[in-house]
Amino acid sequence: MKNLQILVGILFLGALFTMCTKDEEGPLIDVRADFKPFLESYIQEAESRGVKADFSETGLSIQFRPVEDEESAGVCFLGQFRIEIDRSDWNGMAPPEKEGLIFHELGHCHLDRSHLNTLLPNGEWKSRMRGDPFIDDRPVTVNNSGRRRDYYVDEIFNTNTPVPDWVNITQSYDFINDTQKHVIYEKIPDSISFKERLFLPSGANWEIELEINNFETEEFIGISWGQDNNEKSWRMGYSRENQFIITSGQDQFGTIFFKDDVDELINDEYNELTVRQIDNVCYVFINQNFIYWFDYNRQVIGTFQSIDRGSIDHFRNIRVSELML
Ligand SMILES: [Zn+2]
Repeated sequence: MKNLQILVGILFLGALFTMCTKDEEGPLIDVRADFKPFLESYIQEAESRGVKADFSETGLSIQFRPVEDEESAGVCFLGQFRIEIDRSDWNGMAPPEKEGLIFHELGHCHLDRSHLNTLLPNGEWKSRMRGDPFIDDRPVTVNNSGRRRDYYVDEIFNTNTPVPDWVNITQSYDFINDTQKHVIYEKIPDSISFKERLFLPSGANWEIELEINNFETEEFIGISWGQDNNEKSWRMGYSRENQFIITSGQDQFGTIFFKDDVDELINDEYNELTVRQIDNVCYVFINQNFIYWFDYNRQVIGTFQSIDRGSIDHFRNIRVSELML
């Protein structure tokens, strides 16, 4: 109780202090250059939805946090229009994630929103406002890339935004048959690892298919396409605990984390992973079951390699094919 009184005292003092500075100097808008494009985008998106986003009366500060904090990538001091961002988290983010973080913090400061941890029918986050306290070990990443973005922006400004159509996007494994596959890379025997630089014809649609096991690993077994730290790269695979994970962009971990669902799809032996790149969309299958799609600008040149831990065979029947659709 005493602590509460002190806290209320501090908050009251804080409010007084804010009022004083405002009276004497006027509200201060102090936004570091790194954050300005995302603030401008926020203002534009707000106003295009009829929401006023004018900080001239309230002031606004967005700065890097002076001390590194492992707890959160950003924090908004409620009622103070002051946002602090963790520098090392920021540096590891792809632009859609940076935008998402700034929009989230402004959702607190500007829209007075609190955290909302409900899910869409397909298991993805309902809102950019997901946050502490998280109920389970679901990754915090919101995939707001490509056509998912509009929904998440709408939802920031209107919590009653209808469920987006894209939750129903799917593809049947049989949509493509073997006669439509022109194999351009093949490695059939059991392998500890592999690495191949691939060049596909410009505009090609393509498929990666292989079998993976996660024997004797404490970590993660999977594959990657593209270069590390490149926004146009992705990594996917599964952990010892049979959690399937897709990461894309730079260090955008946890775009997918189907722990509950994937347990039923993955067995203790080799599992088949199929990734199809068709018309700037990536479709992912495990053992011929569709599990996820994401918008991905088609890249036809890239390094395709294993992400492996340990010294035993994890991969077999690796094929990369151009799809003749
Ligand atoms: Zn938050």
